[in-house]
Amino acid sequence: MPTTASIQLKSSKSDVPTGVFINNEWRESSDSSTFEVLNPATGAVLTQVAHGKAADVDEAVKAARKAFKTTWGKTVGPEERARLLNKLADLMERDIEVLAELESVNGGKGVRIAREMDIADTIGCLRYYAGWAGKVAGETIETTPKTKLAYTLLEPFGVCGQIIPWNYPIGMWGWKVAPALAAGCAIVMKPSELTPLTALYLCNLIAEAGYPAGVFNLVPGLGATAGAAIASHMDIDKVAFTGSVLTGRKIMEAAAKSNLKKVTLELGGKSPVVVFPSADLEQAANWAALGIFFNSGQDCTAGSRLFVHEDVHDKFVELLVQKAQACAIGNPLDEKTSFGPLISAQQRDKVLSYVESGVSEGATLATGGKKWNADGNEGFFIEPTVLSNCKPSFKCVQEEIFGPVASVLKFSSEEEVLELANSSIYGLGAGVFTNDAKQAMRVSGELSAGTVWVNSYNLLSNAVPFGGMRQSGMGRELGLAGIKEYLAVKSVHHNL
Ligand code: NAD
Repeated sequence: MPTTASIQLKSSKSDVPTGVFINNEWRESSDSSTFEVLNPATGAVLTQVAHGKAADVDEAVKAARKAFKTTWGKTVGPEERARLLNKLADLMERDIEVLAELESVNGGKGVRIAREMDIADTIGCLRYYAGWAGKVAGETIETTPKTKLAYTLLEPFGVCGQIIPWNYPIGMWGWKVAPALAAGCAIVMKPSELTPLTALYLCNLIAEAGYPAGVFNLVPGLGATAGAAIASHMDIDKVAFTGSVLTGRKIMEAAAKSNLKKVTLELGGKSPVVVFPSADLEQAANWAALGIFFNSGQDCTAGSRLFVHEDVHDKFVELLVQKAQACAIGNPLDEKTSFGPLISAQQRDKVLSYVESGVSEGATLATGGKKWNADGNEGFFIEPTVLSNCKPSFKCVQEEIFGPVASVLKFSSEEEVLELANSSIYGLGAGVFTNDAKQAMRVSGELSAGTVWVNSYNLLSNAVPFGGMRQSGMGRELGLAGIKEYLAVKSVHHNL
């Protein structure tokens, strides 16, 4: 099987690698098998990609271990790690157009959003962590008597497995790769089988930047094969995972049953957005629409449970419906498109089944709820959807839909809404809209969520930690907390 495919982008074709990347070289998978990768906006097959198996993961781990024991972990210091991250960011800037178009054809994102947000933020993430390499340090600790000295060292964990999802392929790549490389870890990554193309393309930039062989290895493949092999590998020191709760459980179980590797998990959510009567309703509806319709609702922090005070409920629903109907749905390669298809036919059908179940339980379909196949396209589009008059017990209110479906509920008091908002197995994001500063402080303090947005939604910064409470995960990405997840604390006692 060739390990490169020519993919049609907006106006030209681009050669994209399709193999397994180990030791800065491309190869077929150990049994030469492949899987199909689709364009979700058309349903067409883009290419075949190598289906990595346990044997490929094992080879990748050997390469990573060797790099960690020799070049990367021994002779490459923090200044060089910073320089290489900045060099990689430079190369991404050079190739930003190809990356944006690949992210768009494979992930269904509007190309402008991919360019200006996903990729620009990922470049920023690489540069941000380049700044931390060499600046995170241990501490000296006073001990008694004075003839003794203790200090801590922060050491890279070693070989890290990284497993990422399809909703932000390049964004999740950056959140994992940048802190791990800044910390000095070596990596074996598995991208989502639905969206491997940008991760594959980035391997060539890693080699071009000058990373020593074996520092970064990519094994494309399915979760049950390549993913499971990473989670259960005896020589991987830590696994960082972003994806569903179901898979997160499997990964923890595999880690527990193998070598008790460290695990960090960024999982799902069912984030509440609370709109109080004093809020600027127009602004609240804008942010709430962004919260649920951005990335076609395929967002772990999607603000999918909207609790609106009874005094402003009807007006708010009217505004939200207007925002839903104004979403720029269409061909992701069009600069104007902000709302693309869902990632697969299966995901689209799952989302539509939640709409049906909401309506059958008594919700009002205020807008949307259908496939969107204008111009006879075969893509996996659905309309931005608002379900109003929902009740807390409805399935569409309880479960993560991972699509553009807002479930709106009415409340009458702050106490009641806090109880409702916190009644979830998840705790990833939450939004509060109010013009009462004391209420904003009180409510943001009471909400069980890793991130609370006040009078905004889904704002992120590379400098601010991100992660979940409850079943939304453990550990943090971004910020200083993000690099510390890749560093082990070693304490040293000296008897002077
Ligand atoms: P998923 O769990 O199905 O897959 C995620 C990754 O895990 C993929 O690469 C997949 O191949 C792999 N995988 C599947 N089974 C595996 C196994 N047994 N062992 C090891 N790896 C395995 O999730 P998804 O459908 O790709 O992504 C959607 C989910 O991700 C949603 O629940 C969403 O909320 C969550 N998510 C969370 C965040 C966050 O930061 N908290 C960000 C994005 C997505």
